[in-house]
Amino acid sequence: MNIAFIGLGNMGAPMARNLIKAGHQLNLFDLNQSVLAELAQLGGRISASPKAAAEGAELVITMLPAAAHVRSVWLGEDGVLAGIGRGIPAVDCSTIDPQTAREVAAAAAKQGVAMADAPVSGGTGGAQAGTLTFMVGASAELFATLQPVLAQMGRNIVHCGEVGTGQIAKICNNLLLGISMIGVSEAMALGDALGIDTQVLAGIINSSTGRCWSSDTYNPWPGVIETAPASRGYTGGFGAELMLKDLGLATEAARQAHQPVVLGAVAQQLYQAMSQRGEGGKDFSAIVNSYRKPQ
Ligand code: NAD
Repeated sequence: MNIAFIGLGNMGAPMARNLIKAGHQLNLFDLNQSVLAELAQLGGRISASPKAAAEGAELVITMLPAAAHVRSVWLGEDGVLAGIGRGIPAVDCSTIDPQTAREVAAAAAKQGVAMADAPVSGGTGGAQAGTLTFMVGASAELFATLQPVLAQMGRNIVHCGEVGTGQIAKICNNLLLGISMIGVSEAMALGDALGIDTQVLAGIINSSTGRCWSSDTYNPWPGVIETAPASRGYTGGFGAELMLKDLGLATEAARQAHQPVVLGAVAQQLYQAMSQRGEGGKDFSAIVNSYRKPQ
């Protein structure tokens, strides 16, 4: 299949590589020339703009940082909608607010283009291994069209409902994740301050009612889980800046829906303070340092 792929960063580049490996012909566009050159060596075709990439493509995929980039790449003068053919399926995999996802999809629909939102979880490791989870907001018909291609980049392809619902699933999950990591941090630091061995405490939590992914797989206390970022200086995981972005999306969506997110707002401020301390590039589990005496 001839696929346009726009946005080839930490996530998009490995996703595009998996599509090339699966035998697709890719039209590539990014602002970063070096990643384009690298993917061209694997057989991808470099395009001069999102419009040019979309021309002649049988499917368009984008993977961009935030809503402003999605708007400009899709709706701009040289954007995807200026080049895409009528009836061609399209999907944006960026994590953005549900409202923008719906607005861009509505603009696409006016041109006879069915567009889905399909944000992912699984991180850069999942993007490389082709084991991402895709949370897809689309009509049943569009989901059926996209599913086989998304399955070449991911393991779980979940139909969440109509367009926008993929983003809703993503931001609700990350809202809970951001909060649960702070809860585990608070409990681990309290136990340490009161004098219990943190390995013993983690073992109790992980076989008791406090157990969650933040405690049993990604525990923020160094040394508790060997494979967690906490055990390698909080490097190479899910950056606190990205968590801060997702909590911003959740709290803004909540504001628009007149829905309280009390703990989410507190969590957002704690990650904000972490960012201010210059720790935004660390894995988000380093939030535990907000509770520890300087080491
Ligand atoms: P990134 O910053 O590494 O990559 C974004 C790419 O988009 C860059 O290559 C950039 O040059 C390109 N770009 C920006 N503006 C552009 C434009 N106008 N035209 C063409 N290309 C443009 O970001 P990432 O880590 O790949 O994340 C992409 C999305 O996936 C984000 O929404 C992020 O929240 C989400 N996400 C990231 C992770 C992760 O672990 N990195 C996990 C899940 C979801």
